[in-house]
Amino acid sequence: MLTTAEALDRVLAAMPELSVESVALRAADGRVLRQVVEAERDQPPFNRVMMDGIAISHSDFAAGIRQFPVQCTQMAGDAAATLTQGKCIEIMTGASLPAHADCVIPVERIAVSEEIAVLEDGYVAAAQQYIHPRASDHAAGSQLLAPGKRVSAMDIAVIASAGLTHVDVSRSPVVRVISTGNELVAAGQPIEPHQVRLSNGPAIQALLAQHGYPDCEHDHLPDERAVLTERIAGHLNEADVLILSGGVSMGKADFVPEVLAELGVKEHFHRISQRPGKPMWFGSGPDGQAVFALPGNPVSALVCCRHYVIPALARASARTTPTPEFAALAADVTFRPELTCFQPVRLISNAAGQVLAMPVKTNTSGDFAALSGSDGYVELALEQPRFSAGTSVFLYRW
Ligand code: AMP
Ligand code: MG
Repeated sequence: MLTTAEALDRVLAAMPELSVESVALRAADGRVLRQVVEAERDQPPFNRVMMDGIAISHSDFAAGIRQFPVQCTQMAGDAAATLTQGKCIEIMTGASLPAHADCVIPVERIAVSEEIAVLEDGYVAAAQQYIHPRASDHAAGSQLLAPGKRVSAMDIAVIASAGLTHVDVSRSPVVRVISTGNELVAAGQPIEPHQVRLSNGPAIQALLAQHGYPDCEHDHLPDERAVLTERIAGHLNEADVLILSGGVSMGKADFVPEVLAELGVKEHFHRISQRPGKPMWFGSGPDGQAVFALPGNPVSALVCCRHYVIPALARASARTTPTPEFAALAADVTFRPELTCFQPVRLISNAAGQVLAMPVKTNTSGDFAALSGSDGYVELALEQPRFSAGTSVFLYRW
């Protein structure tokens, strides 16, 4: 059986790269950038005034002048005036520093009467004060954003400041989430005592949305070979990625692997030495579609989705690989040694600023309600059956 690392490597290696499309600035939020964004101009683009007040020549202050006739008023957005020696210009935050001025005195430190600004008694001004020098944040042409970054609100500010109305991002993958199982009944439908509420589909859709893939349609299929074959064939024709749940174990109605093989989906692996999620299946469709068949148990389905599907979509989107995260176990964990354990955890921090992972007990791999109290899971490698409190382990946030 494959280790979790081998399985993830195979998944990532099988992912085709999505093409690039140009989207409007407001639609770029949450998408993966596929271009360099360079500064259009110096930042600030001019010597920027940082206080409402007056602009003077510091040499006048050094020569003992404390009263300055007001030459004119300059607002943010006005072209820079030219200061006459011995005078001041009333100036607003965000304005371009007037020529020959090299000192800004805040309005709180002056009194203006009859068009003369008088400095507060004893006020000491320094040359260059309250001036944000041109290009001191960055110069025109500097690289501000690199390809592979998921666009954040801060990045939107950077893109807009670079003067771009459109930006290149990865095309959004077309994803289909497919729940299989005769026993499943969606919320809102009447349910019999022997039936089960369908929860994996909406949960997987939500997890994908939280990672930047909001438009994934859902289908529910019965455990019937003919129906599975026909409907999965349709989804393969339309989607880049299929995420099935259920029907991959050893039961008599677990037809998913056979049906996928029949449809020309090439198996990369079936089963991973992990708990939960051991029966997971993965393959590539005739046109390179990635097909994930996750076990139906809700905890297994969500852990497998987070651990394999989310990094796979990131790879397909040419997203930069995130740096691994670690947390220290907050309590001892003991488990059956032959399988890697994905242990759901709640995160807490201690006074030393360390992130601690408190194991959240799940009763079975069907105990989805317990997951609500978790922030993610830690990976406890199969080589060792017991991990003591304080051990640093890989952390995956939901
Ligand atoms: P399976 O992998 O098909 O054998 O399913 C394992 C268990 O997970 C069974 O108890 C199923 O009823 C349950 N299950 C499968 N799919 C879902 C789903 N979409 N939502 C909730 N439970 C599910
Ligand atoms: Mg089933």
